Order: sequence, then structure tokens, then C-alpha cells
Amino acid sequence: MNPEVLLSRIRVVLCRPSHPGNIGAVARAMKTMGLSDLYLVSPRQFPDPEADTRATGAVDLLHRATVCDSLKTALAETSFAIAMSARQRDLGPTIGQPREVVGRLLAEAADGKVAMVFGNETMGLSNEEVIHCQAAVCIPTNPKFSSLNLGAAVQVLCYECRMAAYSAQPPVGGHLATPAASPRATQEEIEGLYGHLQALMTDTGFFNPKQPGRLLPKLRRLFGRVGLERDEVNILRGILSSTQARTGHGRKGDLS
Ligand code: SAH
Repeated sequence: MNPEVLLSRIRVVLCRPSHPGNIGAVARAMKTMGLSDLYLVSPRQFPDPEADTRATGAVDLLHRATVCDSLKTALAETSFAIAMSARQRDLGPTIGQPREVVGRLLAEAADGKVAMVFGNETMGLSNEEVIHCQAAVCIPTNPKFSSLNLGAAVQVLCYECRMAAYSAQPPVGGHLATPAASPRATQEEIEGLYGHLQALMTDTGFFNPKQPGRLLPKLRRLFGRVGLERDEVNILRGILSSTQARTGHGRKGDLS
């Protein structure tokens, strides 16, 4: 597939960025590598002259950036998202190396939109944000000083994306080798499945919303590993609906 098209399908999502200067640096990092789709989830200050200054020739990306108030919205029509994190999380996806995971990202981009998700400068990504992603990447660094500046972290990943997109080899791992029978499910479709599962599990008493424990993040991790296709989501939801019908647990509002 045309490398430029592949790169245009990779969205960079910044969660709660504090410094407008970093947003500008991210726009510049993206544009130098041929990416252009920037999403900002609840930026502290944006637009801002400092962002424009740091973006230099990439202000067009800032003007076209989409601002929204939840990661769920930013990922809605994507089918695969990578959480960028300097540390392994208890319940998040297993952390991989940039080159290996970007290979999978590019393979998924052959089918539709994908995303790389970066955290706040001070706090990083929250656990809640990480569990919305299907893979995680840590950039190998000096173990005694492992946190990169946000713009620098985006630069490293965008570079890997460009190298993978322009390499003569098809991206390793996964999807290109065995084309999917049906398109990848979008995050919005998968969120619909999670809502449906949660409703049924609550009705049957398997899940207690007052004592949620780790059940929901564990299910997210399980399905995130698999890479669900649209047909598969529909099959699973069909099974859930038939169970609801048989047990009398169906409620119209559950079907998002
Ligand atoms: N102090 C924060 C780091 C914030 S740096 C923490 O400990 O989590 C801002 C963002 O840049 C991070 O949320 C992450 O998305 C990215 N980042 C920085 N260093 C990274 C690394 N070594 N590997 C992967 N992502 C990194």
C-alpha cells in the first residue's frame, strides 16, 4: 500500500497535555515524518501562541487538530491503538518494543484508522486511558532516566512509522499475512460489545457494579489481544442477545 496513505491513517492522540509548547513540538515531529492527524484530549491550553512558535512550519497541523474531551471519542473510529508508556501497568496490554509494535500498527493501518496515544507530561497515561488501547510500547532508555519529553517520544514513534511504511518489506506480524475475512471492528463497535457484556453480566449477577474488581479491565485486555473483526463482534453480540432473550434479561437500553 502507498506509504503516504498508510501514514495518513495513523492518528497521534495527546491526553491532557499541559504545555502548549509541547503540542507545537508534536505537530512538527509528526509533519517531518509524514503524519498529520492530531487529536488533543482536554489540553490545558490550546490554541496558544507558544504552540504555534514551537510548531514552526507545522502550524497547519495545529489548525486542523481535533480537540475533544475523552479518549474514547478520540479513538472511536480507530481499530487499533498503542499506549505509549515508560512503565508496565498492572492491567494494561503487555509492553512491546517500538519497532515490533509499529509493525503491527502499520499492518492494521492497511485496513483503516489506527492511533498512538501519549500521556500527560507529569502524570503519564492513567490506567483508565491505557486499558482503552490494544498494545503498549516503551521506548528503551537509560533505566536511570527513562522519561522522554513528550515531543521527543512522538518523534521516535513517528520515525519508526515512517521507516516501516517505506520499507520494502511488508510490516511484520499479523494482519497482512492473513487478511481478515471481515474488516477490523472499530473501537466504537468494541465499546458497544463491552457495554452489552457488562449489562448481561450485571443482570445475571456475574458482575457487581458496586464491587467491580478487575473483571472489566481483564476482559478489555483479553479482547484487545485478539484483534476483533466486525463479524466477530456481531457474532458475540448475537450470542449475548440470544442469552438475554432466553433468560428474560434483555433490556432495550443495553444495546448501544
Ligand atoms: N512522568 C511520566 C512521563 C511523562 S512523559 C511518567 O512517568 O509516566 C509524556 C509522555 O511521553 C508519556 O506519557 C508517554 O506517552 C511518552 N513517553 C515518555 N517517555 C517514554 C518512553 N520511554 N517510552 C514510551 N513512552 C514515553
